[in-house]
Amino acid sequence: MPADSTPILIHGGTVLVQSQSSPGPCELHAGWDVLVTGGRSAYVGPRDTSRIPEGCEIVDASETIVMPGFVNAHTHVAMSLFRGYGQDLRLREWLETRIWPAEARMTREDVYWGAMLACAEMIRAGVTTFCDMYFFMDAVAEAASETGLRAALSQGMMGMTAEDRRRTWRASTDLFDAWHGAADGRIRVMLGPHAPYTCPPAFLEEVGRESARIGAPVHIHLAETRKEVEDCLGMYGKSPVQIAVDSGLAGVRLLAVHCVHVTEDDITLLTSSRAAVVHCPASNMNLACGIAPVSRMVSRGVTVGLGTDGAASGSTHDMFASMRIGTLAQKHREMDPTVVPADNALWMATRGGALSMGLEDVGTIAVGMRADLICVDTLGSHFQPAHDIPACLVHCAAPGDVKMVIVDGRILKRGDELLSLDEEDVLRKTRQIAAHLIPR
Ligand SMILES: [Zn+2]
Repeated sequence: MPADSTPILIHGGTVLVQSQSSPGPCELHAGWDVLVTGGRSAYVGPRDTSRIPEGCEIVDASETIVMPGFVNAHTHVAMSLFRGYGQDLRLREWLETRIWPAEARMTREDVYWGAMLACAEMIRAGVTTFCDMYFFMDAVAEAASETGLRAALSQGMMGMTAEDRRRTWRASTDLFDAWHGAADGRIRVMLGPHAPYTCPPAFLEEVGRESARIGAPVHIHLAETRKEVEDCLGMYGKSPVQIAVDSGLAGVRLLAVHCVHVTEDDITLLTSSRAAVVHCPASNMNLACGIAPVSRMVSRGVTVGLGTDGAASGSTHDMFASMRIGTLAQKHREMDPTVVPADNALWMATRGGALSMGLEDVGTIAVGMRADLICVDTLGSHFQPAHDIPACLVHCAAPGDVKMVIVDGRILKRGDELLSLDEEDVLRKTRQIAAHLIPR
């Protein structure tokens, strides 16, 4: 569907304005208007009646914070079908006895409905962009296209055998050809080598060359567990970050997911190669992988975004929870309550994620930027008296507070109503699929 041509005036909210380049204090402007035309913000400032176009839809945003929609910078949306399945197991046992056998039974239709379930959840929770890696990714693209979300998608590529490499290149190329730039540019396609332990360096070098040739960023899991680092050092004499950078993955843009176990040298390499890191605190903590040195990476100039990871390990697509868990984990890790202040967590959950996937015109509210906006209600008893709005957004707010979701100038949620999908139908379908995928 094209960007909605009806202009929208989001009137009288408290507008949250952030830096376009790096985390830092945000500005809050009470009683401002945001005018949306042609899918972009056309005016951001105090009320000015001369700027209201004829036929404009006026949205009353009083008592809400008007902020950029969340960018969920790493997930596997179809894994929503596995929510709660295999909780409290060790990573290897979780994969081998639960996730991989269930994934082997998945069809393209299962992936589509799993993606639709996650899209419903994400729109409810104020997520306007997501970055995904999985298989049957054309089904995920279809779900994003239909529901109106913005998405950066990659086929999870495996490179251990010749057959893996053949299938994976074909699926990845087909996805790029069919979907890159589709849905009015809302859908972008990246290259998604799964991880160094499923993609040896020679294969990653091929990916690096293709990335440069087609100008697509690379999305990869890196340094998630201590074992992965030990194995890479043992097999190749290099850390996962070194392998990725030496293979040429950072030529266009490298989105390195996790980076839990990185050294100071790795951080230097991430900085010098202008790679971005996506932090998935709920997933990392649930699987007991460790806590990434996020505050150190940010202070060294690495762009960091936030992700939920798939719901099988991250449980939900709730970016409020990702901000809160991520922030608390950093304070605990560093034994320092001043690290990752609320403004920085908000930046990582919005602009940081957008930049990590190369979306330069997404993730902040400013004239000319894509109109991906949400209105967050501040009147709940869990939010009041709201002495510090950024702190309350990070530590008190919940998905139910999101009252309006706009992507590319189109309203996807108004009040409690989802406008771009039939949620009852999605829930009915996914319950049927879950029963067949995971028999009780
Ligand atoms: Zn993942």
